[in-house]
Amino acid sequence: MNTITTINPATEEPIKTYNRLTASETAAQIERANKAFQSWKNTSYSERAKLMNALADIFDKNKETYAQLTTEEMGKTIVQSRKEIEKCAWICRYYAEHTAELLAHQTIKTEANKSYVSFQPLGVILAVMPWNFPFYQVIRFLVPALMAGNAGVLKHASNVQGCAFALQQALEDAGFPQGVFSNLNVSSDAVESIIENKHIVAVTLTGSAPAGQSVASIAGKNLKKTVLELGGSDAYIILEDADLEKATDLATYGRLQNNGQTCIAAKRFIVLEEIYDDFINLFKQKMKAAKMGEPTDEDTYYGPLARVDLRDELHEQVTKTINQGGKLILGGNIPDRKGAYYPATILSDIKPGMEAFEEELFGPVASVIKAIDENHAIKLANLSKFGLGSGVITENKSRGEKLALQLEAGSSFVNKLVVSDPRLPFGGIKTSGYGRELSGYGIREFTNIKSIWID
Ligand code: NAP
Repeated sequence: MNTITTINPATEEPIKTYNRLTASETAAQIERANKAFQSWKNTSYSERAKLMNALADIFDKNKETYAQLTTEEMGKTIVQSRKEIEKCAWICRYYAEHTAELLAHQTIKTEANKSYVSFQPLGVILAVMPWNFPFYQVIRFLVPALMAGNAGVLKHASNVQGCAFALQQALEDAGFPQGVFSNLNVSSDAVESIIENKHIVAVTLTGSAPAGQSVASIAGKNLKKTVLELGGSDAYIILEDADLEKATDLATYGRLQNNGQTCIAAKRFIVLEEIYDDFINLFKQKMKAAKMGEPTDEDTYYGPLARVDLRDELHEQVTKTINQGGKLILGGNIPDRKGAYYPATILSDIKPGMEAFEEELFGPVASVIKAIDENHAIKLANLSKFGLGSGVITENKSRGEKLALQLEAGSSFVNKLVVSDPRLPFGGIKTSGYGRELSGYGIREFTNIKSIWID
């Protein structure tokens, strides 16, 4: 029997062992999902909304249990795990309220008697999801997909199978018909045959670029649509007029939230030379003061990374950057304790070509880059192969807006860390992926955008 054992990254102790599905069990689950889709697609938006509101209530009711499971499986602090579950409930309620309007027929004036666009469901969508927001990433795909009338199957990250099964149970408890959503506990090797299955009509993947490339090429071979939400190493430009207290608060939270493992988080700070040294000094004080500790403690600011191998990989990237001429300002060592811990780390004097400039560092490591003026800052920001979520920190909002429009990214915020919000589209450009989630743009990704003409 093929199994997977989840490991608590704070203690390195095993949590639970789950049986992987065999190929025939996987095919049977997809068959069941397709059967469920045949009826689900005919339900009304109000029927779906009722179940979605019931799911939101389940998130409220089970918030503590789900938060503890998240923290145990991937090390996020308990405080942030609770916030993740609250956000799941928000997404459910948002789409319960707005889907009928977001997917309403759009009348288009032509020479026809009547012509309009309708948005119809596609079928069973495969979601390949990461561990960093084990409930929320799935919900961000699933809620709009189901509200649009699709069914979903999930291949979740191997280290968060407890969260994956808890989600399946939550939907069943909310009253969704059996098979409308199921967790397929399989390894990534099984993804190819799932995509090839005739009932799978499209795939969405949130994860790393290599996983995205693999899934997109298999989907391409089978002519199935993909949405890819991949990594980011986006820039936050700190202009010389920025309030340094505010800028360093944002930088500290941005770099340490979710233990540094957020795709849209601030990773590269491009600071204008007038304030470069002052920014580093204050940022160092704040990063040093942030408490690393047990993720279950209420006052822990950041906990361990999700897995020991990911921590070791991050340390290699830090060491490589230092060998390439980057300056270590803080942290940069593997602590002598059990668990996948890595300290808040600052690298300065980062330049194009260095590991920390070119690649994503998925952990509590900040890279600081000096720019001579705002044009130079934009140039450095846009040199990145990524384009997910970036920002500008300045006291001059119109100057900030002008620069935000020039940043190559799916989202650029002024004086605020980029966050996902169901009212706004979310996604990337360049190697950060393509397609959008959330808002009206996201819900239409997995619909047949169909033209109707009555002559
Ligand atoms: P990952 O290693 O790519 O894993 C993501 C998912 O893909 C997991 O379910 C994984 O399964 C599966 N997978 C890995 N390789 C695969 C392959 N060749 N074929 C099919 N499936 C494959 O990424 P991660 O380490 O979990 O997550 C971190 C990355 O995700 C970072 O780059 C981060 O920036 C990105 N991310 C992006 C967003 C966004 O919205 N743009 C959000 C969150 C995270 P196994 O666990 O079984 O290997």
